[in-house]
Amino acid sequence: MCELHEIESPAVTRRTLLRGAGGLLVGGGTIAATATAAHAATSQNGWPAGSSSTIPLSSLAVGGATFPAGVRSDDVHVVLGYVARRFDREVEALVKGWCWGHSYRAISGSTALSNHSSGTAIDLNAPRHPLGRSGTFTATQRSHIRSILGACDGVVRWGGDYSGRRDEMHFEINVRPGDARLAALARRLGGSGGEPAPAPGPVTWTTVRRGAGGFRVTAIQHLLRQRGHSLTVDGTFGPTTESRVLSFQRSRGLAADGIVGPKTWPALVVTVRRGSGGQAVVAVQKLLTHHGYRMTADGVFGPMTATKVQAFQQSHALSADGVVGPNTWAGLTSLTRNPGQ
Ligand SMILES: [Zn+2]
Repeated sequence: MCELHEIESPAVTRRTLLRGAGGLLVGGGTIAATATAAHAATSQNGWPAGSSSTIPLSSLAVGGATFPAGVRSDDVHVVLGYVARRFDREVEALVKGWCWGHSYRAISGSTALSNHSSGTAIDLNAPRHPLGRSGTFTATQRSHIRSILGACDGVVRWGGDYSGRRDEMHFEINVRPGDARLAALARRLGGSGGEPAPAPGPVTWTTVRRGAGGFRVTAIQHLLRQRGHSLTVDGTFGPTTESRVLSFQRSRGLAADGIVGPKTWPALVVTVRRGSGGQAVVAVQKLLTHHGYRMTADGVFGPMTATKVQAFQQSHALSADGVVGPNTWAGLTSLTRNPGQ
């Protein structure tokens, strides 16, 4: 994280801070003492700082990377999401574990609260662009960064433009809360952070029938098992799978044709969320892996599964709530794998 490397005195221990600040999570172990008293403080750019329970934060996932603790919700989320997506596409691919958003802490070597404390700053590929170093990007990369900043009309400042110590991993909101330029930019970019949003329309399901094979059939077989039908999960839609589909359709009063289409899919899928378990969760985990969000298919919907679901939702213009309902099921089973992921 950008400003954690050079923290100096006055410092308190992490234990003191946790007690004093009511459980605020701070990386690096120490922080300037004055920051601990700054509950109601604003970060350097004038935005209210706080923990995830006192300021609104939304998750952010771009490419393969997630931003632990997310970034500030609403317009800030739209704008920082736009910056991160364009950076990922045009400058360099974001790397999982190297990107950061909200974090309650002081600027290193200072008592001022970092803009990360208000969720209005992000660090991109931190280890490649360490604090205090200049020239960590090529000329071509810098020109893409200029283009991104230009599109943001001065609303976003890059740490590489600091007059003092450079911070090339760092991008932050450079206007105060309520500034009309931020709202206008967010409106222009749209709610999905500048990605072309798919035309709203009915959920589309991919019809699967006897003779089919692959990730959709595997999901169907796990869902049939979840629904109490016994069969082997082999990813092949043969006579046994067909007969289980027929039984399921009859049990639901659906037309019994043995085909999993737009009427059978919504009846077959099971909404799962954090805390869920079982065959439907195994199906979700295998589908996520198929789409490039690799994970163990252990049938337990824990924090890792939730993070991957949100990442999938975010990059497919689905509501990123981490819950696998009909829309997300349709996305997971209808879309073909994006080879870039
Ligand atoms: Zn930073």
